[in-house]
Amino acid sequence: MSDCIFCKIGRHELASDIVYEDGELVAFKDINPVAPVHVLLIPKKHVSSLLDEGAEEGMLGRALALVPRIARQLGLAEKGFRLVVNTGKEGGQTVGHLHFHILGGRDMLWPPG
Ligand code: IMP
Repeated sequence: MSDCIFCKIGRHELASDIVYEDGELVAFKDINPVAPVHVLLIPKKHVSSLLDEGAEEGMLGRALALVPRIARQLGLAEKGFRLVVNTGKEGGQTVGHLHFHILGGRDMLWPPG
């Protein structure tokens, strides 16, 4: 989608602090971090959310398998981290492009707000 900010980040048309990239997926630092480490992992292809039919199994599996690798790279392996995928309005999703939040560097609260 031409006007989607995360598509633009994936195409390097919008500046971002990229921590991982391959042909299909890119991870970058959240612009408004809510934890000492806050990275977003996205598919470069536009997929609006987990509910989008384009959220296909292969891509989801590769994204999930990448999370521990990125977490280790970010120094989160020893103490752990949280993975969040806000989905839809009631799920708290504000950007309509599928993204995995990788959060770490502090104790997380439960239940989430
Ligand atoms: P959501 O609320 O789960 O949709 O999360 C969207 C996230 O995208 C929020 O944590 C925002 O801070 C983050 N965000 C929005 N625009 C940008 C950007 O241009 N660069 C990096 N992160 C962004």
